[in-house]
Amino acid sequence: MTGGEPRPGAEKRFHGIGVSPGIARGVVVHRTEDELPPVREVSEADIPEEIARLEDALLATRGQILSLQERIAGSIGAKDASIFDAHLLVVEDRTLLDEVLRTLQRDRLNVEHIFSRVANRYAATLEQIDDPYLRERATDIHDVARRVIRNLTGKEARDLGAWKTEHLLVAHNLTPSDTAQLNRSSVLGFATDVGSKTSHTAIMARSLNIPAVVGLHSFSEQVDNGDDILLDGYNGVVILNPNEQTLWEYGELEIKKTEVEEQLHKLRETQSTTADGRHVILSANIELPDEVEQVNECGAEGVGLFRTEFFYLNRTGLPTEEDQFQAYRDVAQAVAPHSVIIRTLDLGGDKLMTALNLPEEENPFLGCRAIRFCLERPDVFKTQIRAILRASACGNVRMMYPMISGVEELRRANAVLEECRRELVAEGQPFNAEMEVGAMIEIPSAAVCADLLAREVDFFSIGTNDLIQYTIAVDRLNEKISHLYEPTHPAILRLIRTVVDAGHAEGIWVGVCGEMAGDVVLAPLLLGLGVDELSAGAAVVPRVKRAVQSLDMKSCLELVESVIREESPAKIQARCEELARRLYPDLL
Ligand code: PEP
Ligand code: MG
Repeated sequence: MTGGEPRPGAEKRFHGIGVSPGIARGVVVHRTEDELPPVREVSEADIPEEIARLEDALLATRGQILSLQERIAGSIGAKDASIFDAHLLVVEDRTLLDEVLRTLQRDRLNVEHIFSRVANRYAATLEQIDDPYLRERATDIHDVARRVIRNLTGKEARDLGAWKTEHLLVAHNLTPSDTAQLNRSSVLGFATDVGSKTSHTAIMARSLNIPAVVGLHSFSEQVDNGDDILLDGYNGVVILNPNEQTLWEYGELEIKKTEVEEQLHKLRETQSTTADGRHVILSANIELPDEVEQVNECGAEGVGLFRTEFFYLNRTGLPTEEDQFQAYRDVAQAVAPHSVIIRTLDLGGDKLMTALNLPEEENPFLGCRAIRFCLERPDVFKTQIRAILRASACGNVRMMYPMISGVEELRRANAVLEECRRELVAEGQPFNAEMEVGAMIEIPSAAVCADLLAREVDFFSIGTNDLIQYTIAVDRLNEKISHLYEPTHPAILRLIRTVVDAGHAEGIWVGVCGEMAGDVVLAPLLLGLGVDELSAGAAVVPRVKRAVQSLDMKSCLELVESVIREESPAKIQARCEELARRLYPDLL
């Protein structure tokens, strides 16, 4: 490893949000920030300065490319060196630079951020075109953009791929697609300055079993490559230069946690049934098809939420019907006889796909995401639905729509489903005509109208991650207001109760597939509210099962009775913790 030996020094603790449990120790590797320069606002008066910085960076980039070209021409030959002519053209590309200047004037953000955004969009447009020459130009733009941004930020280029040995990744930010690409064998854990518990980056880390701490403010600026750190994903702490005493304490903690994990593993074959005999279906959430192995391993009853967006990220083109059919079929067959609930595409928000070249939006979480996007792009939607329907012939497949806001939207989605069914019948393709179709309830309007929606679907799955975000109007990604993101807010309890009651009145089952379902402290609350299914990350399924087995419905119902008129989220949380501490203290 070229990061050097760990730097000796005094122990220093940094506090953030533990989003994926586990303890990891290793040396720091900084993620190259050149593709994700931090964003900062600039005033009108600063704009000339930003333009001057850009001009200097372009000049430096040009000089670097020319000297690289000279070196290559001398060592390999002029023909190979000529590829850099295309790079020089990028530095002088007027369309690109004018767009950067226009966006800078309009958005007033630091120029490295603007440059990276415009260059990425420009490259994405070229990648769409079915012409190998233009696609090659997109690669040139990415290369040159990295160089320009490095010159703007003064950061060295570091190739993450070069770090094949075990390390802890430190970054200002990681997107969900970055996280999906992490090398699981060498990344022991990661720590970021920004982030929150219900971001898809955090959800991904839990799925991949990578301990992670986010929301560490300026941590990434305070450590260097090769520094020795210990990361505690349980408590959201990162310790630089851990001393002997700390290492001993963490060694003890790890032993205890391992003992609990071993106990939990023994529950694999048991049912998630309360002490007084109420069976709650306990299934697992997956983001990638190959996580299905963990679903069976953790003792879940199938997949309660298959987030299909990750299938669309990290690729240049769209997945074909055949690609998707094979993935859905494989998952369905792996979990049979249990079911897999495939959620239709939920792109948008923090999950963006370059291949679709979506326009930037002011408020992406309130924008054209999920079902709204799918209804606007029936070509993309139909390809997925056809693949899901075909997979329904090969196992126990259910399908649900994300972000349903009301009955008319649901009917429009069902009309597309009907069209796909008719096409498959005409083509003689087999599918399950009785496949259950559900709606996610994650927008307050859907929760309030749950009685109307319940007549038109086979089940509800409550997406608490978004339901909390939209009900309390608190951005689920913004660590600055994460204290306001309260699952035990009385409004959330009331909405869950409304949805469960409306579903049961129409004879349909109601699950919860947001992160609340994986929180053992909140399990008694959800059970008491009448939820029929909990779907959580595979890593936490055994813990939830133990919690359910330790509970009885009488205590759960009493808990709900005692908190339903409570005003304070903190007091409701405390009551839940009290019960959890009494019945399963080792899980906390
Ligand atoms: C949710 O919103 O609770 C949910 C499960 O969906 P996602 O986290 O993918 O938005
Ligand atoms: Mg959601």
